[in-house]
Amino acid sequence: MRRTHRRFRPALAVAVVAALAFAACTDGDERGDFRPGAPDLADPYVPGAGNGGYDVAGYRLTVRYDPATDRLAGRAALTATATTGLSRFNLDLAGLDVSRVAVDGRPAGSARDGDELVVTPRDGLSRGARFTVEVDYSGVPAARADGQLGSGGFLHTDDGAIALGQPWSAATWFPVNDHPSDKATYDIEVTVPQGLAALSNGVPGERSSADGWTTWRWAERAPMASYLTTLVIGDYRVHSGTHAGRPMVTAVPASLPATGPEAASLARTGEIADFLASRFGPYPFDSYGGVVVTDGRIGYALETQSRPVYGPGFFRGGRPNLGVVAHELAHQWFGNSVALSRWSDIWLNEGFASYAEWLWEEHDGGRTAQRNFELEYAATDWSRPSVDPGRSGLFGSAVYKRGALAVHALRRTVGDDAFFRILRTWTAERRGGNATTDDLIALAERVAGKPLRPFFDAWLAGGTAPALP
Ligand SMILES: [Zn+2]
Repeated sequence: MRRTHRRFRPALAVAVVAALAFAACTDGDERGDFRPGAPDLADPYVPGAGNGGYDVAGYRLTVRYDPATDRLAGRAALTATATTGLSRFNLDLAGLDVSRVAVDGRPAGSARDGDELVVTPRDGLSRGARFTVEVDYSGVPAARADGQLGSGGFLHTDDGAIALGQPWSAATWFPVNDHPSDKATYDIEVTVPQGLAALSNGVPGERSSADGWTTWRWAERAPMASYLTTLVIGDYRVHSGTHAGRPMVTAVPASLPATGPEAASLARTGEIADFLASRFGPYPFDSYGGVVVTDGRIGYALETQSRPVYGPGFFRGGRPNLGVVAHELAHQWFGNSVALSRWSDIWLNEGFASYAEWLWEEHDGGRTAQRNFELEYAATDWSRPSVDPGRSGLFGSAVYKRGALAVHALRRTVGDDAFFRILRTWTAERRGGNATTDDLIALAERVAGKPLRPFFDAWLAGGTAPALP
């Protein structure tokens, strides 16, 4: 994620309090070895988000959205495995009405509790059991203020909608285990009025039209964190091609010129991805792309998997903005393929994505990474840590700039050869999974063959400027 501006909005304290209150509830309906799954994952950065007791392998989403009424009707089919004996379990779902829930094809009980959908299967689910859940739902999906990015969630726009947002947004348009620690594959089928585009993640499938509606199909086969899902519906100029033998789908609003800075920036996607692959290792996904939106509420760009979404603010200068493209594409390796286990480690995403901007700038004939490092080193507030920056610091400069400083300092400390081997080993060994800061430190020590914990402690969390390497 990269912001275009730094205007903050007050946090939605009410929602947080409600979520905490629910999380604190205890249950008395244990049946044999079956217990209720935890209603959240106790990640203090996102109270109420995610759920315990199961692991989702795949989502099959079938949704219909009509911009004229702002109504969405959907069916979500999940395949999951119980990680403990479950008498019931939760899904995250914000707003929307649920009309039917089935587990393993049989009707199941369901209840709403704030942004939770509590599902009670007819029989308990044994630990290790693979099961399916089907949820039919509909309603007017809502935006979600997260206190930092401005608008996210499901935004109704002039010509359609945008579903987008970090650290959470997915639960505004489908029932989900809404935490990056539970990655899954996605098949997404979206039906919209004919003439509108419906863009999402992954490889495009067959498109079909009937009775004035068009169904767009997308498949993301690499495990994806829920906040990296997106849906962009509206009047778009969609460009479908291939790059390196994989589908490349880019889109800009039809209201923008075909040769404007937005289209010109997206047109460099393949080239920039190839450059990053030469540093980070093979591109991790089966498709490429990007979508530019014009809605001013999107004051950021987000690295939605295989197809980042760019807000309008990055292109106001009238010239292409390749730095933001490099940033969002770098996340495909750092943040998407190798995802967070908990939000306190967000520097693992943003430090590397910010560093990728420096690498690209140097490659593109601008300032060197070393020069950017020197300038940022002099300007950094060392009292703020990169690791565990606090909820209000989730998108702060300690995460981005100080994170990038740590990455470059690592390069200076271990040398180019070991540094790029660390990066490539990280993206290869952790591909498709989750990781923590400790995992990175352990890997760096293994590849470099020397202790690096004091180095990382100083650069990521020390209260004073570390000695220059
Ligand atoms: Zn970012």
